[in-house]
Amino acid sequence: MNAAPQVLIVGAGPTGLAAALFLTRRGVPVRVIDAGAEPTRTSKALGVNPRTLNLLEDTGVTAAIEAEAQAMRALRLHRRGKPLATLGIDWAAMGAEHRMVILPQARTEALLTVALAALGVSVERGLGLTALSQTADAVSATLSDGSTRTVPVLFAADGAHSVARKALNLEFPGDGWNEPWQLLDVDLTGPAADEGWIDLRPEGPFVCLPFSGKTFRLIGFGPPMLDSLPAGWTAGTVHWRSDFRISHRMVERMSVGRVCLAGDAAHIHSPIGARGMNLGIEDAFVFAACATDFLSGQPGRLDDYGRLRHPVDAAVVRNVRALTSAVRNTSPAADLMRRLVIPVVARTPFVLNRILKVGMGLDHPVTLR
Ligand SMILES: Cc1cc2nc3c(=O)[nH]c(=O)nc-3n(C[C@H](O)[C@H](O)[C@H](O)COP(=O)(O)OP(=O)(O)OC[C@H]3O[C@@H](n4cnc5c(N)ncnc54)[C@H](O)[C@@H]3O)c2cc1C
Repeated sequence: MNAAPQVLIVGAGPTGLAAALFLTRRGVPVRVIDAGAEPTRTSKALGVNPRTLNLLEDTGVTAAIEAEAQAMRALRLHRRGKPLATLGIDWAAMGAEHRMVILPQARTEALLTVALAALGVSVERGLGLTALSQTADAVSATLSDGSTRTVPVLFAADGAHSVARKALNLEFPGDGWNEPWQLLDVDLTGPAADEGWIDLRPEGPFVCLPFSGKTFRLIGFGPPMLDSLPAGWTAGTVHWRSDFRISHRMVERMSVGRVCLAGDAAHIHSPIGARGMNLGIEDAFVFAACATDFLSGQPGRLDDYGRLRHPVDAAVVRNVRALTSAVRNTSPAADLMRRLVIPVVARTPFVLNRILKVGMGLDHPVTLR
């Protein structure tokens, strides 16, 4: 007979799947539910950073990701269409044990799901959390099929519109920007398959990242991106097109009694820096350690989770907001600063590595105590 679940994981995005994997490997029985009838096929995240690859190493998922993913070797920076600097990445100098790789989020989720299935855990789909309440001894979750499940701990990884966060009446303070950003996954000839391309234009940033094979991801704002491709590039099939707006928000607390929040349910920020999914997986890693201790009789450890993660995640939201502010600023003063500052930064490894570490997840240690 299966042991009764000790942790109900709400949401099977990368954060929930990673938590399920880390907990199961620690011997904690889990139940994973997701409101979606099927896994999402579109991919928001592309960059899997060295920190994530480090945390997933023992699960075998790192090897699976690296076998399938594409390496990104350099970032070419332009201003008004003219080359400004090429940022080569010195992995050793940054203390990275793995390189940043590119893999569509849907594939990362699929590889996490396969690893979880190998441990006998599957996601119950089409089943959402609708309400929750808790006492000093347990959490009761009401589900979309009308049933109620009572568990010792609930892990809320239910994304930016988190039902759990709202049920706990937690504020999600922060701000949002009005301009609509464009996202296109499109076949291109012209760009190198292992380099990122950023052009800081007076009308808004133009970012091109390798997606997979001949497909690239374009992100930016301003004129339609396909109408303003760099000289010599040509576009083919468009696979996905979406508009999104950027917000930066950080939940006021990440643990309340026996409920812990993680990933986009707890913090959202711009995709510049490629941190969201990676940060959620990091939350999951720390949560698994704390929840295992809590369930084996260390009552303060769920509070520890919130205490450990909140300052780390809040700092990432702040840093990514600052980085994105610099990228989206179209003022003449910002344009002049870029022309003067970026070439200098590109030639100053100490400063460059500090900035790159934000994207690599290596800007802070992962602390469990
Ligand atoms: C354009 C773009 C590019 C990005 N690029 C990157 C990148 O390169 N690298 C990176 O690290 N991050 C990136 N991100 C961010 C990343 O996609 C998110 O941070 C990541 O998906 C968060 O994972 P999550 O598991 O916390 O939440 P989600 O992926 O949102 O998953 C939440 C899950 O919960 C389920 N759910 C929702 N409500 C309920 C409910 N009531 N009950 C049960 N289940 C529920 C949903 O169906 C979903 O499966 C990008 C984001 C965008 C928009």
